[in-house]
Amino acid sequence: MELVKNVVCPFCGTLCDDIICKVENNEIVGTMNACIIGHSKFVHTEGAERFTKPLVRKNGEFVEVTMDEAIDKAAHILADSKRPLMYGWSCTDCDAQAVGVKLAEEAKACIDNTASVCHGPSVLGLQDVGYPICTFGEVKNRADVVVYWGCNPMHAHPRHLSRNVFARGFFRERGRPDRTLIVVDPRKTDSSKLADIHLQLDFDHDYELLDAIRTVLLGNDILYDEVAGVPKELIYETVEVLKNAQFGILFFGMGITHSRGKHRNIDTAICLTTDLNRNAKFNLIPMRGHYNVTGFNQVCTWEVGYPYCVDFATGTPRYNPGESGSNDLLQSKETDGMLVIASDPGGNFPQKALERMAEIPIVAIEPHRTPTTEMSDVIIPPAIVGMQAEGTAYRMEGVPIRMRKVVDTDLLTDREILERILEKVKEINASK
Ligand code: SF4
Repeated sequence: MELVKNVVCPFCGTLCDDIICKVENNEIVGTMNACIIGHSKFVHTEGAERFTKPLVRKNGEFVEVTMDEAIDKAAHILADSKRPLMYGWSCTDCDAQAVGVKLAEEAKACIDNTASVCHGPSVLGLQDVGYPICTFGEVKNRADVVVYWGCNPMHAHPRHLSRNVFARGFFRERGRPDRTLIVVDPRKTDSSKLADIHLQLDFDHDYELLDAIRTVLLGNDILYDEVAGVPKELIYETVEVLKNAQFGILFFGMGITHSRGKHRNIDTAICLTTDLNRNAKFNLIPMRGHYNVTGFNQVCTWEVGYPYCVDFATGTPRYNPGESGSNDLLQSKETDGMLVIASDPGGNFPQKALERMAEIPIVAIEPHRTPTTEMSDVIIPPAIVGMQAEGTAYRMEGVPIRMRKVVDTDLLTDREILERILEKVKEINASK
């Protein structure tokens, strides 16, 4: 058995780069250091169906076809659609994403990633009021106050706490005892059980609580006995902790991007962080979900100037979340052809979007059987980045890390598949 060291985990935005893979006969048979989620991505789950050949739906049944035939069919779906949508991107590497942007331009498509159902509201918030961010290293070495607002890292980013809170840092030699941990969540979660202060607010009232904290921070009084279900004494106590921080960090997640207020919650959280810098040093980091959701927004921004929901219909990139997001286009029934890559909207989108997906032709570049592949007309299985292919990914706070290839495969990479579809779409467009 061979041990491959310094492997990067292709699962969550924590992007752990200290994984050891146990390899036998060109198969990953075990891991060291990975959490349970990362481990199960590396090790083939027993019974999970892995596609090895391209499939095309003919008379309602999937039949195996050559790669050329699958590419041809995929290119025609994009080129023949009036309002194609290219969605996903967060579980592949930056090189594939860059080809995707070129393909979207050629096909006059809308290109969008999982941010539009995840931290898209955070992007809107930071475009309004700024982005006071730092890296994990600064948190580990300096942070004495750590806030997790609307996120449950014990379940969603399992090694985040051990790397950022329990870890011993240069100025925080004792690790966890040197830090005050605050968790803001309506539920008693496994993360809140570890907290020094748990603000158990009423669901959907984050904006009010953020506003109350800013009110006290700016020297004003709270006029009510409680705000968002949190007693005002606890709010005053929390503000004292926050403003006395030597270095504070606010991690935030779906609890505030998905609840009432959405991007306005983030807007206020960013303003709170800015306000805190009058007394303390404070930063924030969004708990980005997939391992390379950040990478797509980076690539898309440097290629065309906008991070997601980019519409190439007129040939010039336009950006209008609310109109050019995947759910907007599906639910308004504008989209008439869709390419899905490295994502599973069939499993994650709301019913109304799925109803539209069921009506239109879909291409899935996807290694496993998923609800999306069940709805697809073409399935092209790629090599999996981080295990069978290398590439660049961006950690949640924007640190780029090179993903490693651990085992070999005959399958094409996402980038190669997209390049071939791009060539074909160019041919079709030239012949029109
Ligand atoms: S915390 Fe995230 S990146 Fe780290 S091993 Fe677990 S799933 Fe992978």
